[in-house]
Amino acid sequence: MDAERRAVLAYLGAGIVTLIPGSGAMAAEDRHLQLRMQMVAEIAEMARRTGTQTGRAAFSDAVMEAMRKVPRHLFVPASDIDSAYRNHPLPIGSGQTISQPYIVALTTDLVEPRKHHRVLEIGTGSGYQAAVLAELVEQVYSVEIVASLAREASERLRRLGYRNIEVRLSDGHVGWAQAAPFDAIVVTAAATHVPPALVEQLKPGGRMVIPVGPQHRTQEFTLVEKRADGTIDKRVVLPVRFVPMTGGA
Ligand code: SAH
Repeated sequence: MDAERRAVLAYLGAGIVTLIPGSGAMAAEDRHLQLRMQMVAEIAEMARRTGTQTGRAAFSDAVMEAMRKVPRHLFVPASDIDSAYRNHPLPIGSGQTISQPYIVALTTDLVEPRKHHRVLEIGTGSGYQAAVLAELVEQVYSVEIVASLAREASERLRRLGYRNIEVRLSDGHVGWAQAAPFDAIVVTAAATHVPPALVEQLKPGGRMVIPVGPQHRTQEFTLVEKRADGTIDKRVVLPVRFVPMTGGA
């Protein structure tokens, strides 16, 4: 095809998009949905491969549905929108990252979310993990220590219509005593130890996932279960690398 013909076709193509209002945006939405389906397929494959280690070769249908639903591309910087659905972590500013989709799905599956649950997240970041949880439970409480991230995530979640997520600017080491106890707690920054306040704020029968270990190195993704009698059971699920949990006690 010669250059002139290409130019004419491009012109006509542009014309069609402007003649049918909104079709450009719809095409982009379709593309993002398609990318999300692909992302979920990759998560399923990775879950299968890591199943012997994690004890979960497949995640629940509800978790996969939530991963299919939340528009991850709206949680990353505009410059990274094309990479949003790759199975990678991405920078979100202030030296922080949005976790890899597989890790978000694994985290969510490990705490076994139920519709009536109230869940605490430490490390709001972009708000993506909170949104995935909010699709599955009654109420999400999320704590972020960086003011700009807390504000942006809170605005983003409101804009996207999430009414069951509360974001608070605070140090997650102390949890959120006023809203406790929680059915589940997810910590999305690497802690040197399991903060005692978080164990206290977990309901008997509740589950917490937390990366524990040295900062800027590999940590142990740990599942902490509080038994009905209040005793604690810990199991290491996977080696992971999270950004450090700052502040501290
Ligand atoms: N869950 C996020 C990604 C988390 S990155 C998402 O879905 O996008 C880890 C986040 O934990 C960062 O935003 C970091 O600022 C925050 N953080 C680090 N230490 C913290 C602390 N002590 N209390 C609360 N948030 C903390």
